[in-house]
Amino acid sequence: MKVAKFGGSSVANAKQIMKVGEIIQRDTKRKFIIVSAPGKRHKNDIKITDMLISLEEAYRYHNNYEEVLEQILDRFNEIIIQLHLPDALIEDIRRTILSILYSEQSTTMKIDSLKSIGEDSSAKIISAYLTSLGLEAYYVNPKEASIFVSDEPGKAQILPESFDLIYTLREREGILVIPGFFGFTLEGKLVTFSRGGSDITGSIIAAGVQAELYENFTDVDSVYTVNPNIVPNPKEITTLTYKEMRELSYAGFSVFHDEALIPAVKREIPVCIKNTNNPELPGTYVVSKKEHKNKCVVGIASDTGFSTLYISKYLMNRELGFGRRLFEILEDESISFEHTPSGIDDLSVIIRERQFTPENESRVLERIKNELDPDTVTLKHGLALIMIVGEGIMNTVGIAQKATSALTSANVNIKMINQGSSDVSMMFGIEANDLDRAIQSLYRVFFEDEE
Ligand code: ASP
Repeated sequence: MKVAKFGGSSVANAKQIMKVGEIIQRDTKRKFIIVSAPGKRHKNDIKITDMLISLEEAYRYHNNYEEVLEQILDRFNEIIIQLHLPDALIEDIRRTILSILYSEQSTTMKIDSLKSIGEDSSAKIISAYLTSLGLEAYYVNPKEASIFVSDEPGKAQILPESFDLIYTLREREGILVIPGFFGFTLEGKLVTFSRGGSDITGSIIAAGVQAELYENFTDVDSVYTVNPNIVPNPKEITTLTYKEMRELSYAGFSVFHDEALIPAVKREIPVCIKNTNNPELPGTYVVSKKEHKNKCVVGIASDTGFSTLYISKYLMNRELGFGRRLFEILEDESISFEHTPSGIDDLSVIIRERQFTPENESRVLERIKNELDPDTVTLKHGLALIMIVGEGIMNTVGIAQKATSALTSANVNIKMINQGSSDVSMMFGIEANDLDRAIQSLYRVFFEDEE
């Protein structure tokens, strides 16, 4: 049995949904279908999920919410009409949205419930469409599918007890179409995963039913060795390990949600990233182990929007509890950190820039000065991180030399190097403005010159 997840662009309009129908028909093993909300049809389009978020805001602030509602319904209605499905579907969507909007629940609950409507309606439409093609297909709500999650609106985590319950879905007849992106608490409250979270649902179902394969259908042919917006037509990756994928999807490789790997990894379910528009291509496989090749670097990921909190204090290495007190300050401000390269008397904490506001920024700096009495404390923004990723990097001679010479030849100043804290990646911190040049040069050295 296979689990196939179709992302936003794969269900963005009727034409795309017809392709989904063909893909499902082509392989009878595709029993569990997970769907996203309709995504962008073109570059400047708006995702249904974002429209639903705007709808809630418009309603709360007494703006013209009816207009947003009609736009959402128009998008669904166009799909329903073009797929020749019954009108009752659109009436059901309208009723569901209005009942949430007018309900007395808290704003956070309302936002999550509204956000889920994109996926939920998509699943209802697609199961009706598969039925119209003569397939035995059923819409299955995440509650019925036993996707039980923690009560963390907008960032739910799956509860471990779900998996054995999900296993029983194997007994069900027909093709099961399950909306992605949300689950229910044990008390029955609807909670969504973080944005892009339909991938997580797919992985949870694949792990729960112990699928032979989790196919993740998107709009790219494969995972690429570098970001195609920086290097045109980069080489494709055929096979990756989970660890490599984790590092790549963390830093800029947005094809697969970085939380989505966890359930698949735990049960060793192979994942295949495929293109709905080119389903005959092999795609990229993500597996637990792969054959060791001479060339260990599989990809170069990068991301911008990082800040460096730098603290130095003479004899920091001997001061008991220094790190703990520093991280307590960050914890109090709800700031999580990404990396912490350190020296004897120095510590840098790499933090996502978006977590700072002018207020918490000055509070954090003030508290560090008062509570830790450092010699220096600075906070700088505009850092970009580059991850050179590949199993075996730790034990291969010359990777750092190659990387640094590529950066040197592109005239890029390295602000930070972190090697050894992960055995599958090497990290460089550089000025965000230098990023494209740096990646292009690294790509040449690791993927072109070696040909
Ligand atoms: N529709 C949700 C989002 O836009 C989840 C997803 O597409 O995976 O974030």
